[in-house]
Amino acid sequence: MRRTRGLAAIGIAAAALLALTACNSGSPTSPGGEATGGSGGGDKPLFEVAKDVKVDGSPTFDRITKNGKITIGVKEDQPNLGYLDVTTNQRTGFDVDIARWIAASLGYDESKITFKPIASANREQAIVNGDIDYYVGTYSITDKRKEQIDFAGPYFVTGQGLLVAKDSPIKSEKDLNEKTTVCSATGSTPIQNIRTNYPNVPTKEFDLYSACVEELLNGGVQAVTTDQAILIGYAAKDPDNLKVVGEPFTVEKYGVGLAKGDTALRTHINDLFTKGGTTWKAIFDKNLGSSGIKVEQPAVDAY
Ligand code: GLU
Repeated sequence: MRRTRGLAAIGIAAAALLALTACNSGSPTSPGGEATGGSGGGDKPLFEVAKDVKVDGSPTFDRITKNGKITIGVKEDQPNLGYLDVTTNQRTGFDVDIARWIAASLGYDESKITFKPIASANREQAIVNGDIDYYVGTYSITDKRKEQIDFAGPYFVTGQGLLVAKDSPIKSEKDLNEKTTVCSATGSTPIQNIRTNYPNVPTKEFDLYSACVEELLNGGVQAVTTDQAILIGYAAKDPDNLKVVGEPFTVEKYGVGLAKGDTALRTHINDLFTKGGTTWKAIFDKNLGSSGIKVEQPAVDAY
């Protein structure tokens, strides 16, 4: 199969950047210093930057205040969700705008955000170490992860799906067998699900989904599996060579990863989601409105 340059660039750029502690302030701020809401400048802000914020009893907020900036863990190779365009240096995506919205609610505009790309397998440790203040990047809420960290949200719901070559005979997960190697990210829920529930299906794993997509385009694997919302973004970038097949076969609820025990920050973010009016919908429409994905804002689980 022909490989496409665009996806090759995503994989290479993302892998290279992962090695760095990327510090990038994404979209610009308006002359007044207000965040643009991640629109890349020019557009109407999706949200205002709050003033005189207090989050009493939050060790994370205390650290943010001391540092005078917020460090947020994200993905940057997932189109429409968490993506860095290395040529323009613009960071875009639903998750990235959710991350910006939370920062704005804490009183921090784009100029005070440091985004840090962190792969699926390294998220809990980054939060436990205090390397990031919170994480927003296709991060499913699971009981196992909750042993180490806490989650605000959920703020999005999707499910595991399959990405295959345009001419593939695979129509759904029912067609997976010992001859179909499936690729996913290390430390992710989808790779775990394949290992546990499809034990005869060979797997291959990389740190990044973009590396799996490369492998699929090169014919090294027969499918990439992860959340359908992620796969739809890759297919949309390369519709001549890739397609998403079947129906979602798990339920993945995305949460904001936080330090364990920081109930004050978790409550602050849950309140933002609950009382945020039309902002969630505006962020969804901007980033995923034309993707074909239909999701309503889920109710938060204030456990
Ligand atoms: N939502 C799944 C997870 O958190 C897959 C996507 C990802 O790896 O970020 O494991």
